[in-house]
Amino acid sequence: MQVVRTRAELRAVLAAAPRPVGLVPTMGWLHAGHVSLVERARADSATVVMSIFVNPRQFGEAADFEQYPRNEGRDLERAEAAGVDIVFAPTVAEVYPPGFDTVVSVGAISWPLEGAARPGHFDGVATVVAILFALVGAERAYFGLKDYQQVRVIRRMALDLALPTTVVPCETVREPDGLALSSRNARLTPAGRAAAPVLRRALLAGSAAIAGGERSGDAVRAAMRGMLETEPAAEPDYVSVADPDTLAELETIDREALLSLAVRIDGVRLIDNEMTRA
Ligand code: AMP
Repeated sequence: MQVVRTRAELRAVLAAAPRPVGLVPTMGWLHAGHVSLVERARADSATVVMSIFVNPRQFGEAADFEQYPRNEGRDLERAEAAGVDIVFAPTVAEVYPPGFDTVVSVGAISWPLEGAARPGHFDGVATVVAILFALVGAERAYFGLKDYQQVRVIRRMALDLALPTTVVPCETVREPDGLALSSRNARLTPAGRAAAPVLRRALLAGSAAIAGGERSGDAVRAAMRGMLETEPAAEPDYVSVADPDTLAELETIDREALLSLAVRIDGVRLIDNEMTRA
């Protein structure tokens, strides 16, 4: 496995790399969710590139960026064990050199849910992913459906800007108790970690209501909120039952619905989602 830190080094190693190339963008603190993306990329690609970069432009609060967990030594071991060929681990100044003055801003699909809760977040994501797509020129890039809206935003960007990289969505990997793996889970206290599976239980309460014949969006959102209320440590940010195509809130559930939520536990903001069919 080669580790490169500059745009120029990355270009040089990629010039000699066998194709197709698969890209797995990450912010590090690697877990089994990231490894599952690498495994998908490995199956499709002759060369697997992973980026490890905590992108300041996608964080609203400086404190959230600073507290994001980091351990490059451990990440490099895990990346190599997972089968990564090239790690791109740049500095902030390498990604955003002096004079950098471009923002990639995707429209309506980025506005609700995470976009409404975290102003500027998706501009930061789209900008860094556009740079990574341009630098790596991968045939495919792999993203987790835990961040469903992110997948939709990046797909929209790649399509609109005619970027030659196909976005491949990958299933969410969970702990045995249902908690979606996330680097942020590392910041939970033991009590917070014990409380965190309530996100999954709330999603399942919503999908059970739909499976039981409930067709009112408000009633399903109430079922999800009711489950969150059983856990005093959980502070809901949003609870959503939305059209998976537009992400607009559904009044009536008469087709597929994306159930999603963002919840703070111990001050750590966790998200999860579940697709259901009426
Ligand atoms: P992050 O390092 O959190 O920015 O995540 C990097 C990539 O891994 C993104 O495409 C995420 O959607 C994906 N990812 C994060 N958590 C999981 C998970 N539990 N299962 C599958 N993919 C995930």
